[in-house]
Amino acid sequence: MPEILSQRALRLREGGHKLTHARLTVLDVLEKSDGHLTSAGLLEKVTAADPTIGRASVFRALDLFTRLSLVRPTYIDSSVTPSYVLLPDGHHHHVICTNCGRVIEFADCDLTALASELETRLGVKIHGHLLEFYGLCGNCSAPDAKIEES
Ligand SMILES: [Zn+2]
Ligand SMILES: [Zn+2]
Ligand SMILES: [Zn+2]
Repeated sequence: MPEILSQRALRLREGGHKLTHARLTVLDVLEKSDGHLTSAGLLEKVTAADPTIGRASVFRALDLFTRLSLVRPTYIDSSVTPSYVLLPDGHHHHVICTNCGRVIEFADCDLTALASELETRLGVKIHGHLLEFYGLCGNCSAPDAKIEES
């Protein structure tokens, strides 16, 4: 278990959620895997970190984190099994090539103004966003590129 509470753990506690051992371990595993984890992959890593944490606790923690927008599911790797991505600082961005499936990550966006405008206009409270652009990557948009058919 991490000794120093991460920003996200603090957000959990501020939201009135108990920092149980299972929740903290799941959060720790998510934070240490910089990438995308399926629920099966997450379960495997949590079990490796602490075999006493049951499957149900892992899935309940994942559900809670998803509701709180600490993580969000994305279907980039498969159309049936979502991968969960952390939203560091509340956001996460992809450009996805619809031809070869390449996922390009980028860190910055310009959506803070849009988020506050939406909060005012729609009367909502926004916790974060997962932004996915679809198109063709540099290779696939080259003049001699092959468009894959499957
Ligand atoms: Zn491509
Ligand atoms: Zn990503
Ligand atoms: Zn963003």
